[in-house]
Amino acid sequence: MTLLRSVCVFCGSNPGSDPVYLAAAKDVGTRLAMDGLVLVYGGARVGLMGAVADAALAAGGRVSGVIPKALVDKELAHDGLSELHTVSSMHERKALMADLADAFIALPGGAGTLEELFEVWTWGQLGFHDKPVGLLNVKGFYDGLLGFLDHQSQEGFVKPALRDMLVVEERAGPLLDRFRHYAAPRVGKWVERGDL
Ligand code: AMP
Repeated sequence: MTLLRSVCVFCGSNPGSDPVYLAAAKDVGTRLAMDGLVLVYGGARVGLMGAVADAALAAGGRVSGVIPKALVDKELAHDGLSELHTVSSMHERKALMADLADAFIALPGGAGTLEELFEVWTWGQLGFHDKPVGLLNVKGFYDGLLGFLDHQSQEGFVKPALRDMLVVEERAGPLLDRFRHYAAPRVGKWVERGDL
């Protein structure tokens, strides 16, 4: 079981080409606010990032942004957040977001989103935290990636229990429900002969 008070959302600084992505981001923001959960995110007002924050604020939620100084202008820091932490590097940003959140969700996004997702997943695999990590698989956006992760596991590079740590759902409600029932696997990272 995981006590959820805050959820970190990683998502595109672009809106994507299909309005379904913006709609999903808004739905996540609204759902977090309605569930009384603090949204932790990268602090920008562009793309899906801005949409998730705006929706959470509009629904009366609390939003905590974390942005490096160098991106305040580039990613257009959101000026209406409950709190905005300005930090000095990308590394500090990710470390603070990870500290502030009880769980992580990746929505559709670009390279930055994947980098953030993979970091928290690898930290979980190493036992540096026990927090749930999920993907919102809007319109099958992550199907290709999930197929590759299965391949990694089948080829003996990721233990099945660690591959299965990633919680995948199409909608925010079921994803958050599964987070609340999540228990981190108690297995080491290194694959042994008997695991294959
Ligand atoms: P993207 O998914 O590429 O649109 O980026 C989403 C967010 O991830 C943006 O706030 C980026 O600043 C951030 N980001 C991009 N690259 C990195 C990185 N190497 N480490 C941490 N965050 C990043």
